[in-house]
Amino acid sequence: MFCRIASKKVPAKIIYEDERVLAFEDINPQAPVHALVIPKKHISTTLDIEDEDHALIGHLFQTGGKIAKEKGIAERGFRLVVNTNPEAGQTVYHVHIHILGGRHMHWPPG
Ligand SMILES: [Zn+2]
Repeated sequence: MFCRIASKKVPAKIIYEDERVLAFEDINPQAPVHALVIPKKHISTTLDIEDEDHALIGHLFQTGGKIAKEKGIAERGFRLVVNTNPEAGQTVYHVHIHILGGRHMHWPPG
Protein backbone atom coordinates (compact mmCIF):
# COMPACT_ATOMS: atom_id res chain seq x y z
CA MET A 1 0.00 0.00 0.00
CA PHE A 2 2.63 2.56 1.00
CA CYS A 3 4.96 1.32 -1.76
CA ARG A 4 2.13 2.19 -4.14
CA ILE A 5 1.83 5.67 -2.63
CA ALA A 6 5.62 6.08 -2.93
CA SER A 7 5.46 5.11 -6.61
CA LYS A 8 2.41 7.41 -7.15
CA LYS A 9 0.14 4.53 -8.12
CA VAL A 10 -2.16 5.45 -5.24
CA PRO A 11 -2.98 9.13 -4.66
CA ALA A 12 -2.15 10.81 -1.36
CA LYS A 13 -1.96 14.37 -0.09
CA ILE A 14 1.83 14.60 -0.20
CA ILE A 15 3.38 17.27 2.01
CA TYR A 16 7.08 16.44 1.64
CA GLU A 17 9.20 14.33 -0.64
CA ASP A 18 12.86 13.75 -1.37
CA GLU A 19 14.84 10.88 -2.87
CA ARG A 20 14.59 8.72 0.26
CA VAL A 21 11.34 9.55 2.08
CA LEU A 22 7.77 10.69 1.47
CA ALA A 23 5.31 12.36 3.85
CA PHE A 24 1.57 12.68 3.43
CA GLU A 25 -1.58 13.42 5.42
CA ASP A 26 -3.20 10.49 7.26
CA ILE A 27 -6.57 9.69 5.63
CA ASN A 28 -8.09 8.99 9.07
CA PRO A 29 -6.64 11.75 11.28
CA GLN A 30 -6.49 11.13 15.04
CA ALA A 31 -5.38 14.68 15.93
CA PRO A 32 -5.55 18.17 14.37
CA VAL A 33 -2.15 17.38 12.82
CA HIS A 34 -1.70 13.77 11.70
CA ALA A 35 0.75 13.01 8.92
CA LEU A 36 2.81 9.96 8.04
CA VAL A 37 6.39 9.78 6.87
CA ILE A 38 7.63 6.64 5.12
CA PRO A 39 10.88 5.44 3.59
CA LYS A 40 10.59 4.90 -0.17
CA LYS A 41 12.47 1.65 0.37
CA HIS A 42 10.15 -1.14 1.49
CA ILE A 43 10.77 -2.14 5.12
CA SER A 44 7.86 -4.12 6.63
CA THR A 45 8.28 -3.41 10.33
CA THR A 46 10.82 -1.96 12.76
CA LEU A 47 11.98 -5.58 13.19
CA ASP A 48 13.15 -5.61 9.58
CA ILE A 49 15.48 -2.61 9.81
CA GLU A 50 18.96 -3.62 8.62
CA ASP A 51 22.35 -2.10 9.44
CA GLU A 52 22.37 -0.46 6.00
CA ASP A 53 19.11 1.36 6.89
CA HIS A 54 20.48 3.35 9.84
CA ALA A 55 20.98 6.60 7.93
CA LEU A 56 17.58 6.20 6.28
CA ILE A 57 15.80 5.72 9.62
CA GLY A 58 17.62 8.73 11.06
CA HIS A 59 16.52 10.77 8.07
CA LEU A 60 12.96 9.53 8.57
CA PHE A 61 12.83 10.86 12.15
CA GLN A 62 14.55 14.11 11.20
CA THR A 63 11.92 14.61 8.50
CA GLY A 64 9.20 13.99 11.08
CA GLY A 65 10.62 16.80 13.20
CA LYS A 66 10.85 19.15 10.21
CA ILE A 67 7.22 18.52 9.33
CA ALA A 68 6.20 19.21 12.95
CA LYS A 69 8.02 22.56 12.68
CA GLU A 70 6.33 23.38 9.39
CA LYS A 71 2.93 22.47 10.87
CA GLY A 72 3.57 24.82 13.80
CA ILE A 73 3.39 22.16 16.54
CA ALA A 74 7.09 21.76 17.32
CA GLU A 75 7.24 24.16 20.27
CA ARG A 76 4.06 23.05 22.03
CA GLY A 77 4.79 19.37 21.48
CA PHE A 78 4.10 16.46 19.20
CA ARG A 79 4.56 12.72 18.94
CA LEU A 80 6.46 10.59 16.47
CA VAL A 81 4.89 7.15 16.79
CA VAL A 82 5.88 3.87 15.17
CA ASN A 83 3.61 0.89 15.75
CA THR A 84 4.98 -2.63 15.30
CA ASN A 85 2.78 -5.68 14.71
CA PRO A 86 -0.93 -6.22 15.48
CA GLU A 87 -1.12 -5.66 19.21
CA ALA A 88 0.50 -2.25 18.79
CA GLY A 89 -1.94 -1.33 16.03
CA GLN A 90 0.25 -1.64 12.95
CA THR A 91 -2.18 -1.99 10.05
CA VAL A 92 0.09 -1.31 7.06
CA TYR A 93 3.24 -3.41 6.81
CA HIS A 94 5.57 -0.72 5.49
CA VAL A 95 7.38 1.20 8.24
CA HIS A 96 5.79 4.60 8.85
CA ILE A 97 6.13 7.29 11.50
CA HIS A 98 2.93 8.97 12.64
CA ILE A 99 3.41 12.71 13.29
CA LEU A 100 0.69 13.65 15.78
CA GLY A 101 0.01 17.00 17.38
CA GLY A 102 -2.24 19.99 17.81
CA ARG A 103 -3.93 18.67 20.92
CA HIS A 104 -2.90 17.51 24.39
CA MET A 105 -1.50 13.97 24.33
CA HIS A 106 -2.02 11.55 27.20
CA TRP A 107 0.41 9.18 28.86
CA PRO A 108 0.42 6.24 28.90
CA PRO A 109 -0.90 5.98 25.34
CA GLY A 110 -3.96 3.78 24.84
ZN1 LIG B 1 6.03 -1.21 1.05
